[in-house]
Amino acid sequence: MEDLFKNIIGHCKTYGFIFPSSEIYDGLSATYDYGPNGVELKNNIKQAWWKSMVQMHANIVGIDAAIFMHPQVWKASGHVDAFNDPLIDNKQSKKRYRADVLVEDYMAKIEAKINKEIAKAAKRFGDAFDEAEYRSTNGRVLGYAAKHEEARLRLAKAMTDGDLEDMHQMIVDYEIACPESGSREWTEVRQFNLMFSTQLGAVAGEEGKLYLRPETAQGIFVNFLNVQKSARQKIPFGIAQIGKAFRNEIIARQFIFRMREFEQMEMQFFVAPGTQEQWYEHWKAERLAWHQSLGGSDTDLRFHDHDNLAHYADAAVDIEFKFPFGFKELEGIHSRTDFDLTQHQELSGKKLQYFDPERDESYVPYVVETSIGVDRMFLSALTRAYTVEEVPDGKGGSSERIVLKLPPSLAPVKVAILPLLKNNSDLTSLAHQIYDELKLQVPCEYEEKDAIGRRYRRQDAIGTPYCVTVDHDSLDDNSVTVRDRDSLQQDRIAISQLSSYLQERLG
Ligand code: ATP
Repeated sequence: MEDLFKNIIGHCKTYGFIFPSSEIYDGLSATYDYGPNGVELKNNIKQAWWKSMVQMHANIVGIDAAIFMHPQVWKASGHVDAFNDPLIDNKQSKKRYRADVLVEDYMAKIEAKINKEIAKAAKRFGDAFDEAEYRSTNGRVLGYAAKHEEARLRLAKAMTDGDLEDMHQMIVDYEIACPESGSREWTEVRQFNLMFSTQLGAVAGEEGKLYLRPETAQGIFVNFLNVQKSARQKIPFGIAQIGKAFRNEIIARQFIFRMREFEQMEMQFFVAPGTQEQWYEHWKAERLAWHQSLGGSDTDLRFHDHDNLAHYADAAVDIEFKFPFGFKELEGIHSRTDFDLTQHQELSGKKLQYFDPERDESYVPYVVETSIGVDRMFLSALTRAYTVEEVPDGKGGSSERIVLKLPPSLAPVKVAILPLLKNNSDLTSLAHQIYDELKLQVPCEYEEKDAIGRRYRRQDAIGTPYCVTVDHDSLDDNSVTVRDRDSLQQDRIAISQLSSYLQERLG
């Protein structure tokens, strides 16, 4: 899996998906730039989300709020006082870690041991193996499971209570060593606020202190009434937004999984008090279905209920994806109660209530939120799509190819138009003609450099679903060869039919 991760990162750079930021100055830690194919894939992800949320729901509308917000917003939301991560330093390596992540990694190691025992037993018992039975009776597995559960509950309690001493004690008790140096000499655990701050114009000091938003959600809450009234929405309804968010993460590794500047796609769904549980279940199912519609399956997606709830939530679950470094949060679904609107109402002194004609009363609505990182979605789409496989080489043997099996809706280029030879003006001008027509309908690429086999490989590597080859016969029969990226099947299609043939398959 480690190799897979390295290969994906290398692939991203070679094929213009993602570059380290400011690379000529040796980069800036945990900051990345999206290249020509990356920006297309990223835009397609955003479009898929926006369409499924806004276009497909009459009762969800979008906004695009500013990144800067009044500083009181972050006081009201709790971010100034409570948006902290527990930080710990290793005295020997001088490396800094998140204490909760160290404990989570310790738990993941126990889980790996359990899985190893199960894999061994499955091999030993063959078809007769009953995993559930083995888990509930095998002494060694039960021992590991008990250790895991003890750590899970203790971590949840320490996080909920903000108990930094116990966080430290856990690291001592579980004999957690620095992954870098192997040393167990740790500092105390301290709180670290994750918000970036900056200064407003020429106003000095605390007065002019502004924050870069750590989530897009607050831009939605403060606009709740503006949107509800102008869009004439009735509860239940939602507000969706895609935009940048910033967090001064203590450790930002794992490529685009954890960045300091990233993008979120969030939707706040405003509901009547008492109905939040039903809507929470509704959005859990809807969001899972969205991931499944883009190729997700039971083997790479799972729900994970939060053990320690954030100060604003009465229920919270993560949709986790099996990244190359294990199952991790891809999206969060949170029942945020009326916390945010009530806080803003109190601090701003402005009423943020809705008059419900059916109930004949005014109330502060409850909120169910769905929140996903665009960049994490990007990494999950790449992880799922990246495939190395043997294919026939056309000479009776086989050769290896790297192909991105992206859903067509996400692929950066949908169709590549390839004249068989570049120095035959009849072929190139027909290919150009086809390109000029098709580009009005779908994102296309015209490519004439290199042998046709190499061009196919390059298009496979960026995930182009269809390659259209213009050959000598095309000049006589007005037909082209269309090659399917996944099945490698080649169809001969009349040029007049090409557009409808492709639309049907790409739709
Ligand atoms: P984590 O536990 O991984 O730090 P979180 O629980 O703090 O994540 P949320 O506050 O729920 O994350 O944010 C919603 C979504 O935003 C996450 O599911 C994730 O996809 C994305 N996200 C959060 N932090 C980052 C980051 N530093 N880099 C990239 N994406 C992020």
